[in-house]
Amino acid sequence: MNPLKIGCHISVAKGLEHAVRRALELGAESFQVFTKNPRGLRPKKVDYDDAEKGVALMQKHDITLVCHTPYITNLSTPKPDLQEVTIRSIVEDLHIAEAYGAIGAVVHCGKHVGEGEEYGTNRMIETLDLILDQYEGPVKLLLENTAGQGSELGLSIDDLMKIRGASKHPDKIGFCFDTCHSFAAGQWNLESFGELVKQMEHSGYLQQLAAIHFNDSKAPFDSKKDRHEKIGQGEIGSEALAKFLTCDQFQHLPVILETPVNDEQEYAEEMVYLHELRS
Ligand SMILES: [Zn+2]
Ligand SMILES: [Zn+2]
Repeated sequence: MNPLKIGCHISVAKGLEHAVRRALELGAESFQVFTKNPRGLRPKKVDYDDAEKGVALMQKHDITLVCHTPYITNLSTPKPDLQEVTIRSIVEDLHIAEAYGAIGAVVHCGKHVGEGEEYGTNRMIETLDLILDQYEGPVKLLLENTAGQGSELGLSIDDLMKIRGASKHPDKIGFCFDTCHSFAAGQWNLESFGELVKQMEHSGYLQQLAAIHFNDSKAPFDSKKDRHEKIGQGEIGSEALAKFLTCDQFQHLPVILETPVNDEQEYAEEMVYLHELRS
């Protein structure tokens, strides 16, 4: 089993090999990149030569990569044309993630946009099935829990497990747990950390958990607002967050910072802080 690997989000604008070198410079043991521009769905041309070099470098240094798909897809969209674009884009993201040697491609849960939770959930399952009908590779689609902002679905462990369970392809679906989103969704805090872990274990979620997005929250508990903050400077606090780093159940996972920075270089210091919190 892999050890817990502390890492951060890194730009892939200059290619994968460059991103891996950057990760190494910053002291990351894992990292995350976007499959393409996070605010667009334009198809991306992958430089396979660069990808191959990047993957070799990752293997040499035992670095784990997680990919993140663009934010603007909506797995629950009622509009047929938008659903089609979402499917095409995420299938492509899975192939890019595969070329990059990533363990998974993170996707946000759907937004029901006024159609109601039941409709939104069913539509999300349908879209997931249509995506996964078209992908047979090793990369898992990792559903990320949301803060419940607006009409976002997928706040609780139970809801996420229901979606996976109702899919035709549960074996192709895993999870990415975002500490900030879950806190803002009112799902856990310092007092209820133990209960959260128990729930993850009993529901079977933990076995499918492939990555942790490690973020403090600017917005208060149960505020349903997605506002990341640097570790120890937000409403969750370092005592509560450190529990993830020391808890036995998470010792095999990449733990990736998506905290606000002006420059990636700031992550180097924050990762040192995480190693301190861990020991
Ligand atoms: Zn996240
Ligand atoms: Zn977020």
